[in-house]
Amino acid sequence: MKRFFQIFRLDQLLKNEPLKNHTTFKIGGPADLILMPGSWSDIITALQICAEEHLPYIVMGRGSNLLFRDEGFRGVVIKIDQPFKPPACSQCVLWADAGISLSALSNAALKESLTGLEFAGGIPGTLGGAVYMNAGAYGSEMKDVITEVELLTPEGHIQKIPASEMDFGYRTSRVQREKSIVLSAGIRLINGSYDDILAKMKDLGESRREKQPMDMPSAGSTFKRPLGYFAGKLIMDAGLSGAKVGGAQVSPKHCGFIVNGGGATARDVINLIEHVRETVYNKFDVLLEPEVRII
Ligand SMILES: Cc1cc2nc3c(=O)[nH]c(=O)nc-3n(C[C@H](O)[C@H](O)[C@H](O)COP(=O)(O)OP(=O)(O)OC[C@H]3O[C@@H](n4cnc5c(N)ncnc54)[C@H](O)[C@@H]3O)c2cc1C
Repeated sequence: MKRFFQIFRLDQLLKNEPLKNHTTFKIGGPADLILMPGSWSDIITALQICAEEHLPYIVMGRGSNLLFRDEGFRGVVIKIDQPFKPPACSQCVLWADAGISLSALSNAALKESLTGLEFAGGIPGTLGGAVYMNAGAYGSEMKDVITEVELLTPEGHIQKIPASEMDFGYRTSRVQREKSIVLSAGIRLINGSYDDILAKMKDLGESRREKQPMDMPSAGSTFKRPLGYFAGKLIMDAGLSGAKVGGAQVSPKHCGFIVNGGGATARDVINLIEHVRETVYNKFDVLLEPEVRII
């Protein structure tokens, strides 16, 4: 760890930092070290130090799909939640750094009157996290708009991968398998009308606020959508609306969300996830798979 303090600026490093300060769930024990890189070369250097010193590492964006355990993370968390340069637009392709938020990215598309990314404006993650997860909403997903992704392999090589080779599937991509890092991505959009794009973004934002517990800390949908069902409906029909374990609760507003009702531990959330899975399985013979990534 010492080498991080020799190489990086002090304001780029947080030692023994509670991860709850960095996740939308507001849950998670301490990380040995959090690095906030200021450039791609910072990330490459961090990977080199981790490899040489056999330090475990993990990459995170805005922590909006993560549940860190109460014990925290023994190793280095590389937090990529800021772009290193503004997005560039050429011939309907927006090219942006992984750390840009999806809301900033959709606003950049709006500014260019480009349509196709409205669905992502309300997803509270980064482009990197969205590529990793193939994030989606309202019938669209990242795979519909991504044209190419720039990846850093765990060995430190930079590769440009066309979307057709990203193995995008429902909430998955090749990044999950390879442990590579998303550096940037190109988004192909279509010329549209500024007013229509703005109206659609507002509409989708309102619909989110109406249906989802946006005022409570969470990591979004706790479970993946099982084939032929909706997780939230199954959980509601199983009589679990409002069910609690410690500070964790199945949101009565949208049963697909487990929320932190105040002081929830990761253990509370994990126990509630298990309780929900077991109850739904016993009632409906459907096994729910977590969408939230438990670290
Ligand atoms: C209120 C709320 C609403 C949500 N709505 C939706 C929704 O409609 N649709 C949806 O799909 N999701 C939704 N989510 C979940 C979440 O926002 C998305 O999964 C998002 O894409 C995660 O991005 P992130 O930057 O927060 O990633 P994080 O949560 O920080 O990380 C998620 C995973 O991505 C990896 N990762 C992050 N950045 C990189 C990178 N640069 N390179 C490689 N790997 C990386 C991490 O290692 C981790 O495994 C919602 C969450 C909340 C809290």
